[in-house]
Amino acid sequence: MLLQLVLILLVTSVPARKNHRKHIQESFPSQSTEYRDYEALNSEYAQNYEYEYDHHQQDQQDRQHLLQHDNQQLPQRNKLLVIVLDGFRWDYFNIYKDRTGKDLEGFKRFMSAGVRTKYLESVFPAESFPAWQTIQTGLYPESHGIVGNQFYDSEVHKMTDSTYLAFFNIDDERTTAHMKWWQKDEVEPIWATAAKHDVTFATFLWGRCDIPYDNVKRLSPAYCENYYSTDLTKTLTINVDKAVQQLQSGVDAAIIYDLTLEKAGEDFGPFSDQVEGKLRQLDAAMVHLEDRLNQTYMNEHVNVVIVSDHGMTYGHHSPYEVEIKKVKLSNHLQKGTYRWIVGTGSHAGVYPKSREQRKGIVERLKEVDGIRVYGKHDIPEELHYKHNKNSPPILVLAEPGTIILSSGRDVQRPSYNRGSGKGHGYSSPQSLVEQTKMGLSGYDPREEDMRGIFLAKGPDFKATGEVYPAIKLVDVYQVLTHVLGVPPQANNGTWDDVRDLLVDPNAAPSRTFGLCKTVIILLLASLISHHQHNYAI
Ligand SMILES: [Zn+2]
Repeated sequence: MLLQLVLILLVTSVPARKNHRKHIQESFPSQSTEYRDYEALNSEYAQNYEYEYDHHQQDQQDRQHLLQHDNQQLPQRNKLLVIVLDGFRWDYFNIYKDRTGKDLEGFKRFMSAGVRTKYLESVFPAESFPAWQTIQTGLYPESHGIVGNQFYDSEVHKMTDSTYLAFFNIDDERTTAHMKWWQKDEVEPIWATAAKHDVTFATFLWGRCDIPYDNVKRLSPAYCENYYSTDLTKTLTINVDKAVQQLQSGVDAAIIYDLTLEKAGEDFGPFSDQVEGKLRQLDAAMVHLEDRLNQTYMNEHVNVVIVSDHGMTYGHHSPYEVEIKKVKLSNHLQKGTYRWIVGTGSHAGVYPKSREQRKGIVERLKEVDGIRVYGKHDIPEELHYKHNKNSPPILVLAEPGTIILSSGRDVQRPSYNRGSGKGHGYSSPQSLVEQTKMGLSGYDPREEDMRGIFLAKGPDFKATGEVYPAIKLVDVYQVLTHVLGVPPQANNGTWDDVRDLLVDPNAAPSRTFGLCKTVIILLLASLISHHQHNYAI
């Protein structure tokens, strides 16, 4: 009887379906088809992919059934625009003012109408690819598995039988394409979760958005240009226009990535004229964004979140009277005791030839100034790095002010000379690269110079213009899922750290939650009325 009452209440309380959004995937051409190497690279892996088809079919039907009911409970969703400014240090606003006597007016206006945190603590290593995966999953690198801009994966080595493909390397598009890294269970990027809930994303220059999350369902953004499509001659303003156009056309959310500031920081240092010029250019894009949102009447319906992936410290030359320490690891190690040294700059992994040699290598390197050395089991838990099989057997982490130089070609990996040339990196051998970089990232994220920014404005954020306490990069994901109204996957964020930024932190974070809450309220209501009825008799 009670159950019947609840069911009747549930059915009659559902309003007519409204705001049915058309999926716009067909409206936009898919990304460039000229570069499809990863398809071939991955085909063998796909054949071996164990997929429980029936189980997933049923799961999909269940979810659709749930959504059909749940859609009807939702008010119209606000849109979301995320702008990721690579290498934007937390104190660039002050550095700019010190150098020029002026403010970055576009950013200043944005911040005065929204919220800003004191800084954003990156993850370890505080560098691009690991941080991007954290932004879109809310997970630490040890959980999402992209443990560096460069790392070695023994499984991919076995699968591909290639020492070239076994080394993930940001500067070489072919080596970051293996779907094993992007289709891990429980490491679902926000655009894939959104796609499951009929919420569409457009992504501009964003990581490996071109590789679908689920190999069978092919969950992808509605529009995607990956990181390797970056053209350094094009400004952020161009992508702001493209993103606003997509939002106007019905897409629910967009991510724009911009590399130009990091590149200027790496090439000329974080205190350079070139960085100052790039900041001015990004600031102009902020003014342009505000104008575009006003012209399209979307200002009140679009949440804008601006984050950086990490900060930047000086590399080869210090702007102060400080001597930079340079450490070449192979100079301190006995030949033949190790196979490879993976990575340079702020950190590197050493791969001993055998397990017995591990201790001796750690002991030797511990005597070197300017670096911290850990056997895998001794890597501090707070780096959230050691619990992954791709974190190295020995981690060497430089202190700021120290650079790890490239060791000889026979032991230094990844090997740079076999690259596709598609990356915008560096055609020169790695031995030259890290030794001439004027700005570096990838150090311990707790170092001040590694801190990034978090700014947000829009209908779901407070408009106090205040500076809130620092948050962590792992906290960003839950903010994005909340304002977009998609259910978050399990993540490392802490809700209490971000709730003060939001107008309504208690709003239903997802459609699923919305339905549960409705059912609970109806149950309670019917119980009360049932009880009152009995009492009256
Ligand atoms: Zn970066």
